[in-house]
Amino acid sequence: MTEIFIKIFAAGVIKYLIIFALPYFIFWKLFPQKVKNLKIQAVERQKPQIPLELRYSFSTLIIQSLIFLSIYWLNEKGIFNIYAGFGSQGYLREAAGFVIYFVVYDAYFYWSHRLLHEGWFYKKVHVVHHMSLNPTPFASYSFHPIEAVVSLVYFYPVLYFCPMSFELFLLLIVLTDFGNLAGHLGYDFIPKAMWKSKWGAWLTTPTHHNMHHQYSRSNFGLYWRGWDEMFKTLRSRTGQEFIRVKDQGDFL
Ligand SMILES: [Zn+2]
Ligand SMILES: [Zn+2]
Repeated sequence: MTEIFIKIFAAGVIKYLIIFALPYFIFWKLFPQKVKNLKIQAVERQKPQIPLELRYSFSTLIIQSLIFLSIYWLNEKGIFNIYAGFGSQGYLREAAGFVIYFVVYDAYFYWSHRLLHEGWFYKKVHVVHHMSLNPTPFASYSFHPIEAVVSLVYFYPVLYFCPMSFELFLLLIVLTDFGNLAGHLGYDFIPKAMWKSKWGAWLTTPTHHNMHHQYSRSNFGLYWRGWDEMFKTLRSRTGQEFIRVKDQGDFL
């Protein structure tokens, strides 16, 4: 088990470096001038923010590896059915797994996030994530250890009820990380035309989550804007703020 844990952890670190550290160096360090028109907040981050984000990211990586190790163990015991070969049990199963995962995760994120903003949960746990007022990609994993667990436990019911291939499982993890990166990159790459399209009316933007870091008590949703609209937690000027960012000028 120790050997498997080390492999999972090493893969997690490599994934973190590619998905979060690399965009940080590209957009925040190497070419900030090229993407300055896409920047959501003009204010510079506070000095201690990055070391704090990195420290909590490291503990999140350890907790994430332990959870993935437990998933491996539960799969070995036959409690989960993660099988080898994408489509080997039919593509319909993979498609269903994909849709179920994102619908469940999105709903789970909204409601667990609402809970994390209540009393003790906010003061002792979620406050860590909110120390990043202008988040960098490293904030994507900047969680108190309790929140690191909360942010991943939805995997257990999904995998229990939803058999899927190992390849789909990996794809879901990577796509979830990219979604997380989008909300914490500090830049909004969503084209205005996409936002104005039929799909855009359904979905959140990176600006949506960035505003959550600025104002805290609104915009709890992750992908589907409907949760915030339905439960009246959408910040009133979210759409206008997105337009303001887009009207700063063209990309490059
Ligand atoms: Zn966040
Ligand atoms: Zn929050």
